[in-house]
Amino acid sequence: MGIGGSDIYRQQILDHYKNPRNYGELEEPTFSHVGENPMCGDRIELDVALDEDGRIERVAFQGDGCAISQAAASLLSEELPGLTIEELQAMDRDDVIDLLGVDISPMRVKCAVLAEKVAQDGAEIYRGEKDDEPSIIED
Ligand code: ZN
Repeated sequence: MGIGGSDIYRQQILDHYKNPRNYGELEEPTFSHVGENPMCGDRIELDVALDEDGRIERVAFQGDGCAISQAAASLLSEELPGLTIEELQAMDRDDVIDLLGVDISPMRVKCAVLAEKVAQDGAEIYRGEKDDEPSIIED
C-alpha cells in the first residue's frame, strides 16, 4: 500500500478496510454528509446520531476508495461516539493519523483525513455555520 509503520498497524488498516465497522446507514441520523477526495477517488457518506445531551451517539458510514480512506472512516466511527460536537471540531489530522498508526505520505494524508472532514463539515452544516455542499478535499 506504500505506507510505512509496524505490521500490527498495517494489519489493523487492512482489517478495517476488509471488515469496516459501523458500515451502513442510520435509520434516524441527526445529520448526514458526504465528501470526496478526487485525487484518489475516495468517497465517504457519513450518518451521525446525537443523543439528547448533544453527544455523538452513533456513527455509520458507506463509501469506496483506497484502504487508507476506508480504514480511517471505520476507525473514526468507533472513536467518535461519546464526543461532543466541540470535541469533534477540535480534532485535527494528527488525531486520525495517530488512529491509523502508520507513516503516511503527504499524498495519502488526503485519504486519511477525508472521513474526519466529512464529520466536521457535516456538524458545521447541521449547526447552520456552513453551506450544505459536499466536502471536497482540495490539493
Ligand atoms: Zn485514497
